Amino acid sequence: MKRIAILGSTGSIGRNALRVVDALPGRFRVVGLAAHSNGDLLLRQAARYKPAMVSLFDPAAARRLEGRRNGTRALAPGVEGLVELAGHPDVDLVLTSLVGGVGFAPLLAAVRAGKTVALANKEPMVMAGAQFMREAKRWGARIIPVDSEPSAVFQCIQGSLAAPGRVLLTASGGAFYRRRGSLARVRPAEALRHPTWKMGPKITIDCATLMNKGFEAIEIQHLFGLGHRDIAILIHPQSIVHSAVEFRDGSVLAQLAPPDMRLPIQYALTYPERLPSVVRRLDLAAAGSLTFQEPDFRRFPCLALAREAAAAGGAVPAVLNAADEVAVAAFTAGRIPFTSLARVVERTLRAFRGGRALPSFSEVVEIDQWARRKAQEECDRR
Ligand code: MG
Repeated sequence: MKRIAILGSTGSIGRNALRVVDALPGRFRVVGLAAHSNGDLLLRQAARYKPAMVSLFDPAAARRLEGRRNGTRALAPGVEGLVELAGHPDVDLVLTSLVGGVGFAPLLAAVRAGKTVALANKEPMVMAGAQFMREAKRWGARIIPVDSEPSAVFQCIQGSLAAPGRVLLTASGGAFYRRRGSLARVRPAEALRHPTWKMGPKITIDCATLMNKGFEAIEIQHLFGLGHRDIAILIHPQSIVHSAVEFRDGSVLAQLAPPDMRLPIQYALTYPERLPSVVRRLDLAAAGSLTFQEPDFRRFPCLALAREAAAAGGAVPAVLNAADEVAVAAFTAGRIPFTSLARVVERTLRAFRGGRALPSFSEVVEIDQWARRKAQEECDRR
């Protein structure tokens, strides 16, 4: 039995991962569950899966849990508990489905403990993907992507002795791709309505700005050792082709499936095996036509900024990530308009004076904090 820990068990990836665990009895033992602040759901999950360890990030929520655990040890709140769980000797596989830069230290702990990491939390890979890959090699850790697009790439290269030459990264386009007219007045509730995927608020807003696709391009670049120019982005509103790989000879392999996160989650949890799954089968005739088009970088400037940051390299993607996280929080709280998201990110990037060299992990943390302060100032001015 694979002993797994889920960092982010009450979010959409975490809940789907537990459905995968349910569907494959005898395969997994859940030894740790960590959530942000949904103590009620965490308790229900703990009662059912009986993990040895649980952790709640939010200290106030963690206090309310006290005295309500039976046989389960509560870890420290905050990053401390996440780091302990991620590197714990009783854990074989760590699923990181946290949201944002908070997953940086837990990912580092998992990698340095030589774990198999099922990676859904892409932000740390945007911040320091090259460094994480180097560290994983050093400690014998393995990072397996969970997100549907990098999982598609990972699936397409299985059994291939040749490295991928180019990745065709597909994007649904998010909530506003087909909308006409100005996006200045769109409300957070509209941006939170994703056409094909049901996900948490941060990633759904990132999909609406297409920043998420920019992040995925950076993540894929590092996971598969590609250059930033080797990744082409295509708008594919049907979300059936989850991405494709082009080899040197021009042959293209794609991975197709209905949009259901349980499939890439299961593949990451059971890799290298492929097991039966409850996911609905793909009916290509019913899907009808599959369409692809170039993204509109002018209407979605966050994607252009992300491509620029990928080209600059060094610490620039970490600045991009931090500024985006602050801007998304401000937009979600109704403090800045949708179109200011890109402005906040752009102004933070332009203010960054760091070099192109690859920063150490601790330098990344410092740069992240600087960029958050700078982006906050930019939001406050709006
Ligand atoms: Mg994705």
